[in-house]
Order: sequence, then C-alpha cells, then structure tokens
Amino acid sequence: MISEQLKSGPSTKQFNSDDTLRIGECTVHKRQLEAFCTSCHVLICPTCLMFGDHKGHLVDQMDKATKDIRSSMDQAAKDGILRLEKTETVLVDIRHTKLTFEESKQKVLKEVEQTFAAIFKLIKQRKDEVINLINQHYEIQVNNIDTQEQIWMDKQSRAYDVIKLAKSTNDYQLLEKATYILESLEILRQTPTYKNVYIVNSIDTTFNLNNISLNLSEFQKGLQNWIKLGDSVLIQFKC
Ligand SMILES: [Zn+2]
Ligand SMILES: [Zn+2]
Repeated sequence: MISEQLKSGPSTKQFNSDDTLRIGECTVHKRQLEAFCTSCHVLICPTCLMFGDHKGHLVDQMDKATKDIRSSMDQAAKDGILRLEKTETVLVDIRHTKLTFEESKQKVLKEVEQTFAAIFKLIKQRKDEVINLINQHYEIQVNNIDTQEQIWMDKQSRAYDVIKLAKSTNDYQLLEKATYILESLEILRQTPTYKNVYIVNSIDTTFNLNNISLNLSEFQKGLQNWIKLGDSVLIQFKC
C-alpha cells in the first residue's frame, strides 16, 4: 500500500513516522478534525464544514474516505499505472530531450566561437597590413625629405667654408682649394626648386565586395546586426 500519496490539507498533521493515522486539530478553529472533505481532499473540523471554507462541501467519514482511497490505489496498481516502466520510459524521453538540448547549445556556441575567432583573426591581420602600408608610405616620403635635408646641410657647410676661405689671405691655400670653391659657388648659385611629397590625409573605410560598396556607418550597422539565430528544428518529447 502506498499511503504517502494521500494528499493532506495545509493545516493538518495526520501522519506519524510509522504511517498510522492520528487525528490532529484544525489549526483554524482549534477543533478536532473529524471528517474528510471529498471536494478538497483534506481533513476538516465541524466548524470548517458548517461555517468555514468547506461550507456546503461533500464530506465522508474518515474510515469511508480511507477505504475509498485505498481502493483507488489498489485499482491503479491492478491497472498497471503504478509500474516503474510506465513513468521510466517517459522520463527517459524527457532526459534524452534535455541532453539533446545541451548538446545542441554547445554545438551552436562552438560555432559562434569559431566564427568570431576567424573574423577577429582577419580583422587583426588586415589592421597589421594597413599599419604596414602607412609605415611604408611615410618611410619613403620621409626618406625623400631626409635626403634633401642632407643636401642642404652640405650646401650650408660649403657656404660656411667659402666665407672662411674668402677671409683668408693665404693665396696658395685658395688655389689649392679652387676646385672645391668653384664647385661650391656653382652649387650655391642654384635656386631651390619644389619637390612633391605626400601625406596621408585620411583612411578610406569603404567596404567593397562584388560591386557592392558600403560606407563605414553602413558597414558598422551591418556588423551590429550580423549573426542571428538560424533555422530552428522542432523536437517533440513524450510527456
Ligand atoms: Zn476547522
Ligand atoms: Zn472542502
């Protein structure tokens, strides 16, 4: 017999640890619990029945109620609905469904990880390339400027030398340095020209692919909404 399945009311303590029925007291009315409300399936006192929450409900004597419950349980046992396999097969199905969900979640999360890892890698790679391009560009341009700086420092030093030699009274020294002096005068007589060098004004952030071109804010907007949950698959489980 499975007497633990007896449903009890909220205010009653009908059971001892040895499962024998012991009549308690109604906690609302402090009277002896004397009958079983067959509408609410709880033990009630006479005041419950006459004036309380169970007014007008159908009641049974306790021994009759006990008999009815026992016979319901016996019938259920005969019908086989208490058999372990009966609930076990459903539980197996439910637990299998839980497992399927956990596996599916892990699979999708892994897919997210891999997708973003690949994109992060590409973005980092592209960033390094762009930085390299900028460094190369500036290196070439600055080299150009450095070369000119060197040339004009050389001119300045020739001018300084010529001034010094012009002040000298040593004729022999002048003749000895004639080539240098005349070459320097020639060089210093040249008028400065202009050379073109280029600075990078900005970076072009247009996103281009197959004749589609997106500006940065369109591209960012696309990124913000990128990746949604894909198709869902219907799973049924027995319950
Ligand atoms: Zn009562
Ligand atoms: Zn009732």
